[in-house]
Amino acid sequence: MPKTDIASLSREELKELIQSLGQPAFRSTQIYEWLRKGVSSFDEMTNVPASLRQKLVENCYISYAAIEKKLVSAYDDTKKYLFRFPDGEMVESVLMKYHHGFTSCISTQAGCRMGCTFCATGQSGFSRSLSASEMLAQLIAEQQDEHIRISNVVLMGMGEPLDNFDQVMRFLELVGDEKGLGIGMRHISLSTCGLVPKIYELADRHLQITLSVSLHAPNNQIRSRTMPVNRRYPVEELLKACRYYSDTTGRRISFEYAMIDGVNDSDACAEELGRRLRGIISHVNLIPVNAVSGTGYQKSKRQRMERFIDILGKAGVTATVRRTLGSDINASCGQLRRAAGSTNPSKEETAV
Ligand code: SAH
Ligand code: SF4
Repeated sequence: MPKTDIASLSREELKELIQSLGQPAFRSTQIYEWLRKGVSSFDEMTNVPASLRQKLVENCYISYAAIEKKLVSAYDDTKKYLFRFPDGEMVESVLMKYHHGFTSCISTQAGCRMGCTFCATGQSGFSRSLSASEMLAQLIAEQQDEHIRISNVVLMGMGEPLDNFDQVMRFLELVGDEKGLGIGMRHISLSTCGLVPKIYELADRHLQITLSVSLHAPNNQIRSRTMPVNRRYPVEELLKACRYYSDTTGRRISFEYAMIDGVNDSDACAEELGRRLRGIISHVNLIPVNAVSGTGYQKSKRQRMERFIDILGKAGVTATVRRTLGSDINASCGQLRRAAGSTNPSKEETAV
């Protein structure tokens, strides 16, 4: 029989497992606490009898995230982690400090299948999806490392969350447990490149999470060039799904728009975007694109971004430039893993 991923069990499921091993329920509370502290082996569960630990070793395994590398910004309190899972797979995560608390940007897959041309993750291929416990493990490792509590989570690291739908939904359940990390849906954002059928599926779950949609272009001509997913789900279909999402959940959608010099930042682009977004309860986040090596893209000039915001504003669409944090510690997710050990001090962080 395959071993159970014990950290992926809910508190109730863990209790059932422990009882099925002939043990009293309170042992499951002890084990749950250890797991939420991020132990990497059953041996570390010192208040659990050796005989039970042995049974656990035989039946279960622990998904934990080991810190392979950590970069600390000299400018602000941003930390960037490269985590290694027991099978050797590595993902990135970024921990940011805001006045309201700590926000962690975690990965949902090792790599990504979507192949966006401006994205370091998309350009370096796909290894595998992460389990819910591996998503949780990134948060736990950061909390333990920094002796803090994380209050907000953004699923905006490596990977496409809606391409790993079931495990992401499972993660959302686990992370909310008040005896565990206690991070509720209102404190979670999920970012997608636009897998339309999954946006409908998500809407129908009526969750209180924030949906971010990586739009990055106002029309199919430009979007299909930079985001291959657009050839499958064009802008019209994507925006229809977004309307459905905000109508169904009553939640405002956040559109991400990476400003790329000469590609998607003209006045005409802003005008078209303004027309397209009319009637959708939304907010546009403009992000100066991170110049990922090999892509040839450069960020738009500050004035261009301001002009873009003005045009959108006239069309009734609110837009702001997203603050960048950790500008000295290596770019949006994917670049650290891709660099495989070297740091690049001149890149900017993609941050909320
Ligand atoms: N796959 C999901 C979530 C992970 S990517 C998605 O695409 O939404 C997180 C965000 O970073 C997305 O908005 C993505 O478009 C953006 N991004 C990726 N590469 C970037 C770059 N080089 N510069 C700026 N933003 C980038
Ligand atoms: Fe994947 Fe998002 Fe990067 Fe596109 S932007 S390749 S969907 S991680």
